[in-house]
Amino acid sequence: MDGEATRNVPFWRSLRTKYVLTYLVIIAAVLVLLNTYPLLVSQDMVFKSKQTSLQSQASVMASALAGPEGLNREGVGRVMEVLGDTGLSRVMVTDASGVVLYDTTAGSNSMGRYALFYEVAGALRGRDEFRSNYSFGAFHSRAAVPVTYRGMTLGAVYVDELDAEQGQLLIGIQQTLRTISLIIAVVSATLSLIFSQALTRRLGQLLGAIRIVREGEYSHRIKIRGGDELSRLAGEFNALTGRLQTTEEVRRRFVSDASHELKTPLASIRLLSDSILQNDHIDPETVQEFVGDIGDEAARLQRITEHLLTLTRLDAAAPVEAEPVEVAGVAQRVEHMLEPLAKAVEVTLKLNVPEGLMVRITRDDLYQILFNLVENGIKYNLPGGRVELYAQDWEGKVVIMVEDTGVGIPEEDIGKVFDRFYRVDKARSRAAGGTGLGLSIVRDTARRHGGDVTVQRRSGEGTRFVVTFPLCEEAVT
Ligand code: ADP
Repeated sequence: MDGEATRNVPFWRSLRTKYVLTYLVIIAAVLVLLNTYPLLVSQDMVFKSKQTSLQSQASVMASALAGPEGLNREGVGRVMEVLGDTGLSRVMVTDASGVVLYDTTAGSNSMGRYALFYEVAGALRGRDEFRSNYSFGAFHSRAAVPVTYRGMTLGAVYVDELDAEQGQLLIGIQQTLRTISLIIAVVSATLSLIFSQALTRRLGQLLGAIRIVREGEYSHRIKIRGGDELSRLAGEFNALTGRLQTTEEVRRRFVSDASHELKTPLASIRLLSDSILQNDHIDPETVQEFVGDIGDEAARLQRITEHLLTLTRLDAAAPVEAEPVEVAGVAQRVEHMLEPLAKAVEVTLKLNVPEGLMVRITRDDLYQILFNLVENGIKYNLPGGRVELYAQDWEGKVVIMVEDTGVGIPEEDIGKVFDRFYRVDKARSRAAGGTGLGLSIVRDTARRHGGDVTVQRRSGEGTRFVVTFPLCEEAVT
């Protein structure tokens, strides 16, 4: 799977190729620099030191030669003899016209001829000349200075030196640098290959995992190693897949629960209508009773579909057109609507909502929330019981509480009552016309408006639902 994930990428587009090439180009640039710059600098340094030493040697000779009698072969020869061995490859002295008076080159026939050297010509014009070049591992340097006496140029001294020693030193450095470069190149190429391989392998793993999940295998997870960006990506991917899995499970359960809930009343309707149709001698009262039951089941179906539609609308999270709504007004309407039901089951309803307490919501949504909670308080109550609705602003929030003295919710069920289709006592809920969707609608509606709802068991008896909303300080429009 890993291989397949990366194999589809063309070679030149692959991240691995780009990574390795970039790495190699950078390393090559560094190595070229390493192999040239230090050598150029050292060469330059040698040139400079040669210039100083050769020119000063030539100047010493020039000042020894300078004198009122001018330059001639014998005089120059004597002086040069006195100066002794200079250690240079060649020393040449010319007169003012450039004719050679002295030359150390053995067997040279330059004596008495013109010295046709660029440096000599420059020196005869009064300039100090120097030239050096490095080739075949040796420095070849030449310098020429004028011999002057009282402002007059009497001739020129030309010196020439071939230095292989410094050249060898430079070659040594060059070789060492080459060896170091080769090692660096091999190590970095190997490392870049290893890293890029590891990178593409991990990317391949990620791609593979994405494909597996795309095909519906939501339980698939990537093993996370290390703490780099790719591991973070894998972590995020796992979290995302986890959420997908949860959502998918919720969706599946919802669909199966919903179809089950719809199937039950439909089966009852079918059974009742079949009984009427198949029984020829059925008395009118029984027919009346059965049709009544069919009507009840149809009403139940209607309630379930209405609730399902409400939940779908909430799931779709269509834009909310909220406005400041006064809690008291809505609470009074709920009380008014549920008073007959409460009376019928001998439950007392009590409201305690201050005037002017506002929530940013739609009137219908707040009505839906309060109606469901108060209705539950009545439905799951006992004769002689109470349902109370309080509201107040507390710590920058609007807190609405619906308390009852009813049957209560067992500890083990308290966490599940907001789940869709969850009912503690199925028979009781069914008898009271419940669908198991009321509290999910309450929670989803509250959350849609920035609020939330929680449930608590009351210490004595009954249940308390607490709805909170951000405080809305705007005036009613
Ligand atoms: P239903 O349509 O069944 O009332 P709800 O979602 O409104 O569905 O409530 C879910 C379940 O929570 C109910 O079936 C009931 O068992 C339990 N319940 C809700 N409100 C109360 C309450 N005030 N007192 C006791 N049990 C409650």
